[in-house]
Amino acid sequence: MHAPIHPLRPLTNVLAAVATVALSAVAAGPQAKASVEGLYILNCGEGVAGDVSRWSPGVNVGKSAEFVDNCYLIRHTQGWLLWDTGVADAIAAMPQGQAPSDPRATHWRRPKTLASQLEELSVKPADIKFLAVSHTHPDHVGNVGLFSSSMLLVQKAEYEWPSPLGVGRFKPEHPVTKLEGDHDVFGDGSVIILSTPGHTPGHQSLLVKMPKTGAVILSGDAVHFADNWENRRVPELNTDKDKTLASMQRIADVIAREHAQLWINHDKAQRDKLKMSPDYYD
Ligand SMILES: [Zn+2]
Repeated sequence: MHAPIHPLRPLTNVLAAVATVALSAVAAGPQAKASVEGLYILNCGEGVAGDVSRWSPGVNVGKSAEFVDNCYLIRHTQGWLLWDTGVADAIAAMPQGQAPSDPRATHWRRPKTLASQLEELSVKPADIKFLAVSHTHPDHVGNVGLFSSSMLLVQKAEYEWPSPLGVGRFKPEHPVTKLEGDHDVFGDGSVIILSTPGHTPGHQSLLVKMPKTGAVILSGDAVHFADNWENRRVPELNTDKDKTLASMQRIADVIAREHAQLWINHDKAQRDKLKMSPDYYD
């Protein structure tokens, strides 16, 4: 650097003053307490689909594909939130995993239980303040019963949906807040449930804003793979195609507004690039 030192001094002071003002504005603003301290990605299943065109009708017919299944644990200053619970922990004890009744569907294995991954972080099920599920398909609600004291955050439309895959997914005594639309979980704008119906009647996604990582949207099953996202493909097993497409557009709008990343729950190629628990994002 050959710049003369004197002209720099006032500039440095100005910059310092700007920084001070910016910091105090942040400290005084509504985001001051917005504090996600960590987001952990938990391994909640791995599997092989017999025919991936189940999730992309007419495309990749007859091809098998690897699936992953994630749960996400969020440490917020006000408490823990668990997003989705994966396939049932009992599958971890099955040497061959759990074969589907329809060979086109997913043969699930569970390399690690959800319980053991929480234990590794010294988190007890009773420590989980909020349990939110994207929807009530079995690969997302497999372990809801472990968290009987956690407040369930689920759309009313999903809670009341008489799923063809089985009623009684939640015990009537499980504490629940039935949502009707978006929901700011901690009241500070840092973790927001987004209503994204279509895949199921009360499907929801999650927007998480982190201090360093920035904004991330957890897809739930609003979309299953990056390729299906880019091509706006709607799977066979889906309750309302128009709503699913509208929800995808809604997610795209939020991504643009928040400069968010989209983390797609079942996309193996993407998960292979992300840090898994006990590592975390903040
Ligand atoms: Zn799923």
